Amino acid sequence: MKIAGARTRLYEFEMDRPLGDANLPEGARMATGMLLFIDSDDGVSGIAIGGGAPGTIQRLVKDLLVGEDPRGVKGLWQKMNNAAFKGGNRGEIGSAISTIDTALWDLKARINGEPLWKTLGASSPQVRAYASGIDMALTDEEITTFYTRMAKQGIQGGKLKIGVDLESDERRLGLMRDALAKSGKRPELMIDSNEYWSPKQAIRHISHLERSFDITWAEEPARRWDYRGLRQVSRGIRAAVATGENLDLLPEFTPLLVHEAADIINLGQGSGGITGMLQIADLAYGFDRPVTLMNCPGNFMAPVAACLPNHIGMEVVDAGRAVCFTVDNRIENGWIILGDSPGNGIAVDEQKLAALEVEQFSPGVKAGSWGRRAGAGMYETPTR
Ligand SMILES: [Mg+2]
Repeated sequence: MKIAGARTRLYEFEMDRPLGDANLPEGARMATGMLLFIDSDDGVSGIAIGGGAPGTIQRLVKDLLVGEDPRGVKGLWQKMNNAAFKGGNRGEIGSAISTIDTALWDLKARINGEPLWKTLGASSPQVRAYASGIDMALTDEEITTFYTRMAKQGIQGGKLKIGVDLESDERRLGLMRDALAKSGKRPELMIDSNEYWSPKQAIRHISHLERSFDITWAEEPARRWDYRGLRQVSRGIRAAVATGENLDLLPEFTPLLVHEAADIINLGQGSGGITGMLQIADLAYGFDRPVTLMNCPGNFMAPVAACLPNHIGMEVVDAGRAVCFTVDNRIENGWIILGDSPGNGIAVDEQKLAALEVEQFSPGVKAGSWGRRAGAGMYETPTR
């Protein structure tokens, strides 16, 4: 069995609510997606949704993977990373490698005729979920509606976007807590300021919130690489510091753990795909630190979380992203229950995809990667 080639298909769609954070408080409602298909010579294809430019993906597959046995995923991951060595394997090429790796794992599981969670070695097809509104642009009423909807699925944890102003952060955190309490369980509160603050700002704001709330973790309270600042925050607040979603490779995580800057590691697909995430999760396990999986369309990466002994909760955004595909999982009493479909469980709906497919993404569609808002990071810079 050999890899025959790759196909990419781009689509754009409107989400059921605007997503925003401290860097884009007004939020964005349009989103983009890319489906990658890695085809084998016997007609089985692996599917992934992810980033990376189609041209970069096609070049990597053509130059390095065509003719290779797709089941040797870890070796192919190494081959791609070795090839990217001189120019570096971050950014655009890192995204391409991550998406290819994800599709290769799916292909391997489909060839095996088994669900990906089994291929990865999980013994139980369930993953604890937490709700994430990416909700800076939502009204108070919309925050209550979203977290109530999630609580009714048994989800007790929620992550609120904060960092624009302390008064509204405090009010909205209370709304999230009260909505999550409808799960019948103790609400678990997480906050995420998306690197908007300096370390001292973070300590001051979070300490204020901690007078009224028991916060489980504070995400990206300082810059992603600033292990001294993150450690300062960790030591200055009660909550755990979580970070890592915007790092690319395992070596970037090592200083965060060695210097006690990250109490919880966020694992994202962009950190080297499934192979990269497994490496980073093992590194955290070696330091006895938990990991959490970041959101992804239809929770299609949940099989990765299922096999990690130190995984504590996966981010569920549920903003209508599974618009042109379905994924074989469901949420039950706060847990993502994975099905038995081969691979990652993605099934493309060709009719819906046809209505959303584009040749190129439209200019101005931010796709979740908006810039840093002015005023970020300075201790007392007034913000608007
Ligand atoms: Mg985050």
